[in-house]
Amino acid sequence: MTQPEHALGLFGGTFDPIHYGHLRLAETAREALGLERVRFIPAGRPPHRGTPGASGTDRLAMARLATADNPAFEVDPAEVDAAQASFTILTLERLRLALGPHRPLVLLLGVDAFLGLPGWKRWTELFDFAHIAVANRPGYSLDAAQMPTELAALTEQRQAAPNALETRPHGALVQFAMTPLAISATDIRTRHSAGHSLRYLLPPPVLDYISRHQLYL
Ligand code: ATP
Repeated sequence: MTQPEHALGLFGGTFDPIHYGHLRLAETAREALGLERVRFIPAGRPPHRGTPGASGTDRLAMARLATADNPAFEVDPAEVDAAQASFTILTLERLRLALGPHRPLVLLLGVDAFLGLPGWKRWTELFDFAHIAVANRPGYSLDAAQMPTELAALTEQRQAAPNALETRPHGALVQFAMTPLAISATDIRTRHSAGHSLRYLLPPPVLDYISRHQLYL
């Protein structure tokens, strides 16, 4: 009998810049959901928002610096390197092809990102390639009454207990609780351009990178 394969967390974002909210979400997911590793995938050209404040190269470099001390974290440069816009469904197709049909893949999202799913390209197909795990985020709620109808229906249909992630490679929706951190990249950029301190919001090597490369001024 073949051994079940370990689950891989996939964590996409603009990471403009990466901060402790992102890192804590990934670490909590790793532990709570039994993920073998978490792969951070910075978006190259995010399709749902304006041009990021920092280039893909800088956002990738910051993601690498922020994750370097965690052996379970890795950074995937493919979306930054790609010429086309960063659609998650295309990334999942690529990874499923590369990693084979059996490995559980778990797409990690904060609840704000989850609520925006109906605007994503081919969003109902995401479950054909991965599970989705949603973390709480201050200011947002997973209350079905406040969700778009089609998302509420999908949530009801797909919702499962965390142990479902290991029993099949894709298709389940789970929630996990992280220490609430009201940190956002927007707030970090605004603070920095106003000349305020960013200490204790993001890892020191990222802070240092921002100041050496004069980002977000
Ligand atoms: P911005 O303020 O520029 O929109 P952001 O801080 O929301 O940025 P993103 O790179 O857009 O960061 O987010 C990537 C993923 O991380 C999304 O799924 C988002 O929900 C999640 N996330 C970001 N910050 C937090 C946080 N503080 N708590 C929980 N989830 C978060």
